[in-house]
Amino acid sequence: MSNYTKILLEEHEMPTRWYNIAPDLPEPPPPPLHPGTMKPATGDDFAALFPKALIEQEMSQARYIDIPEAILDVYRLWRPSPLFRARRLEKLLDTPAKIFYKYEGVSPAGSHKPNTAVPQVYYNAQEGIRKLTTETGAGQWGSSLAFACAQFGLECEIWQVAASYRAKPYRRTMMEIWGGKVYPSPSDRTEFGRALLAENPDHPGSLGIAISEAVSEAVTDSSVRYALGSVLNHVLLHQTIIGEEALLQLAKVGETPDVLVGCTGGGSNFGGLAFPFLREKLAGKMNPVIRCVEPAACPTLTRGQYRYDFGDTAGLTPLMKMHTLGHDFIPEPIHAGGLRYHGMAPLVSHVYELGLVEAISIPQTECFAGALQFARSEGIVPAPEPTHAIAAAIREALACKASGEEKVILTALCGHGHLDLAAYDKYLSGEMVDLDLSDADLAEALKSVPVIA
Ligand SMILES: *Cc1c(COP(=O)(O)O)cnc(C)c1O
Repeated sequence: MSNYTKILLEEHEMPTRWYNIAPDLPEPPPPPLHPGTMKPATGDDFAALFPKALIEQEMSQARYIDIPEAILDVYRLWRPSPLFRARRLEKLLDTPAKIFYKYEGVSPAGSHKPNTAVPQVYYNAQEGIRKLTTETGAGQWGSSLAFACAQFGLECEIWQVAASYRAKPYRRTMMEIWGGKVYPSPSDRTEFGRALLAENPDHPGSLGIAISEAVSEAVTDSSVRYALGSVLNHVLLHQTIIGEEALLQLAKVGETPDVLVGCTGGGSNFGGLAFPFLREKLAGKMNPVIRCVEPAACPTLTRGQYRYDFGDTAGLTPLMKMHTLGHDFIPEPIHAGGLRYHGMAPLVSHVYELGLVEAISIPQTECFAGALQFARSEGIVPAPEPTHAIAAAIREALACKASGEEKVILTALCGHGHLDLAAYDKYLSGEMVDLDLSDADLAEALKSVPVIA
């Protein structure tokens, strides 16, 4: 038998609907709040930020939403994406477990992010929007949005977290290739950015700060909107194409997962893979353990608090009930830039709070050790973010080796690491260290969470 098993779908088998988990949950998630009135936010509260179609999706109670043909047409550039059985990794680990990974690195930007960038740009284009603004951490989201804007003829402006702007020049080049304009954040283009630069000209920035800058730029011009690459309900909705495809692919080989693990930054690749499987679980058709994996240095679910907090540092967004480390929190500069966010998708927080999913955190050196085992057996060099999912899958596979259980493990390899080789360099040269979050620093950061009467 071949060492590689690649499970493919034909183009015509690609799902044509996204799955909305909201109506299937045993309790509805707490609504976002308007920070002025503390009343549930309405569509109008989001109207300066997002087009109407996306606001409707954000609040929708429809179980399925049809994917417009123009979006399917762009998806077909790389979708359906392959599901692999990691036979060579299984052999290396000498485990009776079966490990499957859904590979999203085949998209033009190299990650799962274009699954939502394309629909977000499409709906903005439909409503006559001229330009989108956004933030980017590791550069994955910025490049995905720039790619999607190029497909539909929109302008794209991106605030890239300064530390990553300096460390990752090639991601910036990619954004510029697709026509995006890129600024380091904090920038001198916004009032908030100028104030931070006045305090510290070498400010490293954070995702929360970059979101504030991109939002403040969008709300001043009615032909401009803002786009967010994770966290929101409509983003997770678009990402469910990952899980819907994976369900079909596993069915082709007659498998159902016993354990599903995914890395969580804002929760979109995790929700995208997990929610269709959670639907099956809630319907009693399968019973996988579903587990979020986050960095030990940014432990939002495992050590944060489930409270209403802002999505950005300046406090411009509606308040969202989510696990948070505090909107002022600036995570240590770990290499998985896409996981350095203080909050979590409200939908992921909610299913975690309901006990429908579990969460663990893993320090980065264990993640990179796992990534090398993966790359040397399976061949693909993972992005730093999914190395957390890989390390968790390896832990599970080694537990199966000890117990003799033949579990089926499923994960998402949500991006490749070709533009993250500097991180691998640090690991290979022995310079990478684990950055822990102390209880004192955590308590300090949590002080920024608003106290609600
Ligand atoms: C952005 C990103 C993440 C983190 O975001 P989620 O919304 O949690 O998926 C993880 N992996 C990759 C490759 C990313 O680009």
